[in-house]
Amino acid sequence: MISLFRGITIVAAAGLLLGCGGSRHSSAGADAGDTVRSVESEDKSAEKWSFNADSAYRNVSRQVEFGPRIPGTASHKATADWLSSELKRYGWMVTEQHSTVKAFDGSQLPLRNIFAQINPEATDRTLLLAHYDTRPWADEDPDPTKRQQPIDGANDGGSGTGVLLEIARQLGMSAPTGGIDILLVDCEDYGTSGDEESWALGAGYFAAHPPIEGYKPARAILLDMVGGKDGVFPAEYYSRQAAADIDDAIRLAARRIGEGERFPGVYGGAVTDDHVKLIERGIPAVDIIEYRAEGGFNATWHTTSDTLDNIDRETLGAVGRTVMEYLKSI
Ligand SMILES: [Zn+2]
Repeated sequence: MISLFRGITIVAAAGLLLGCGGSRHSSAGADAGDTVRSVESEDKSAEKWSFNADSAYRNVSRQVEFGPRIPGTASHKATADWLSSELKRYGWMVTEQHSTVKAFDGSQLPLRNIFAQINPEATDRTLLLAHYDTRPWADEDPDPTKRQQPIDGANDGGSGTGVLLEIARQLGMSAPTGGIDILLVDCEDYGTSGDEESWALGAGYFAAHPPIEGYKPARAILLDMVGGKDGVFPAEYYSRQAAADIDDAIRLAARRIGEGERFPGVYGGAVTDDHVKLIERGIPAVDIIEYRAEGGFNATWHTTSDTLDNIDRETLGAVGRTVMEYLKSI
């Protein structure tokens, strides 16, 4: 993924979101303190909805062990095979999409999206997604001699996928009544700066060719780069434009479980990412992504430092628990 703008536009937008921050909590019909207390007491009775950060971390480390997940490579195939079989093992109905997409450099990328459902008969559906492919080049590396090397993608690709796999495991055990889908999406990170359409090819394919006729989830949440040290997740511009209510509800869920500081009510930036492809098709979608108005993405973004060493279990846990807390509230 890539950011569209930084600096002055974001600073202006940050004021906007901060300005409406107070009303988000009053909309729950009580002041913020009451809301937090009442939901915390509910939380204790719902122990089955847990999230194991160590398990999510192992999911990340497993992906890194496969090697860079560049479309068309043996490492990519082995990872996809493993992801698909894990989802099945957790009791999900898995459908794969196989196709070919054309990259910005003219290369034909084999595409493999992994789509999984629980309670497929439910009409109100929530789609959780993350990309599992990794960038072939560390083109943001501070050392120019390393910029042609592939990245490990522990955070960029590995973290979102690792968190979703743990959510899949938990939901598989707890048998929720709602309709939940998981999309592990391919070919996100093969793009080039300056060409917005060169990113998120797998999500674009999914949106244009839904695996089920007429598939249109009520909401979608994208996790991308959710494992950085002390990671924080300010609001993303397109998410706010398309789905401010969902974004608010996620931030409120984070507050209820004591992770509000990681989900501040300020803008980070506008990020071209998988969620934009869904939004273009009328699906309200939110991108949970580490991007700060000052500093941008995590410093390891598209560098050879995007390694397991730089993954923070606590960040994975905070995001996973927040998403599950949000799912409870639907
Ligand atoms: Zn990336």
